Amino acid sequence: MTQSRSTRDVKALEASLYMQAARRVPVTLVRGEGTRVWDDTGKSYLDFVAGIATNSLGHAHPGLADVIATQAHTLIHVSNIFYSEPQIELAELLISHSALDRVFFSNSGAEANEAAIKIARKWGKLHRDGAFEIIVTDHSFHGRTMATVSATGTPRYRDPFAPTLPGFVFVAYDDVDAVRRATTPRTAAVMVEPVQGEGGVNVPKPDYLPQLRRWCDEQGLLLILDEVQTGVGRTGTIWAYEQVGIEPDVMTSAKGIGGGVPLGATLAKEHASVFEPGDHGSTYGGNPLATAAGTYVMRQLVETDLLANVRARGEQLARRLAGLEDRTPLVTGERGVGLLRGLELGKEVAAEVVTRAVGRGILLNPVRPDVVRFMPPLTVTAGEIDEAVDIVESVLQEIGS
Ligand SMILES: *Cc1c(COP(=O)(O)O)cnc(C)c1O
Repeated sequence: MTQSRSTRDVKALEASLYMQAARRVPVTLVRGEGTRVWDDTGKSYLDFVAGIATNSLGHAHPGLADVIATQAHTLIHVSNIFYSEPQIELAELLISHSALDRVFFSNSGAEANEAAIKIARKWGKLHRDGAFEIIVTDHSFHGRTMATVSATGTPRYRDPFAPTLPGFVFVAYDDVDAVRRATTPRTAAVMVEPVQGEGGVNVPKPDYLPQLRRWCDEQGLLLILDEVQTGVGRTGTIWAYEQVGIEPDVMTSAKGIGGGVPLGATLAKEHASVFEPGDHGSTYGGNPLATAAGTYVMRQLVETDLLANVRARGEQLARRLAGLEDRTPLVTGERGVGLLRGLELGKEVAAEVVTRAVGRGILLNPVRPDVVRFMPPLTVTAGEIDEAVDIVESVLQEIGS
């Protein structure tokens, strides 16, 4: 018989059994409730990583847990060769609460972007004389599959796997002129994140997306927005694009949409919706379990005051982080939108700040050597924000200048 989970040395076993593809924080998490998680020694943490922006409703949300359990007792999975009610229920919610007309479900952000890339390629064949290039940006993150890693603006994620997929043209982020210069008859689409998440919580100028939209309209290009991290309420509106008054032709979603259950979505306007029967597929994509969870998360967003909480708590977090600038010499600023925020440090000590913060019971993520990312569940309370920033302040004072 195998030992009970709690008496096994998970970290040692991981080192010998698991592919060493990730650098892990030496903490084994065993349970959660709301914004809090507990490790295998009983120590509790405020979770400001939230599964990398996936656990929108916090941990062990009773309503979400009930929906998942009920669906599991009813029908977990059916093949996409059949119709399924939860899938169409979520499709209806997403279409009625976005500017897009059709959806395709998958299991992750990378997969959602794969579908968007395939749409751009096929659309270019049909409508732009075989154009196939997609303009993407430096410091972008679109996923780890071969196509999405080829589109990702971090060379160290791409180089070990060269040759990468052709057809991605890199330009600086937040620079519309660079996109204009890179546009050729081969260009089919421009793909960007409304705010770069993994690249460092990089917020573009307010007119960046509107100008990109205008350029794509003038040139007849598709504008693809990767809202995998920014979507589903994270920035204080359901989709980040709503805040700059534009609409994408294609948009991708994942991370927070399933509340922690793997789910991805690719949405498109009718004119960009070029898939025909046989063009694309996914065995698990949009299965009843995942889409029942997604429906519950979307309902919470549109039927409760969750978005108001994101805006209020986002402002509070921004204000508290900005306040650290006056009180701790290490802090040089803060940036972000809603509950996706970064604390800027004058030195490359983000990893040390995070390690010490974990020791004091708050989970954070060093998204760049000099930026600590904060992305709590959308349900985070005012008290939890204050508690988290107080801990970070004491850690910064400990490190000194
Ligand atoms: C996380 C992320 C992805 C990849 O999502 P996975 O679910 O890990 O495949 C893609 N784009 C953005 C903007 C992301 O933040």
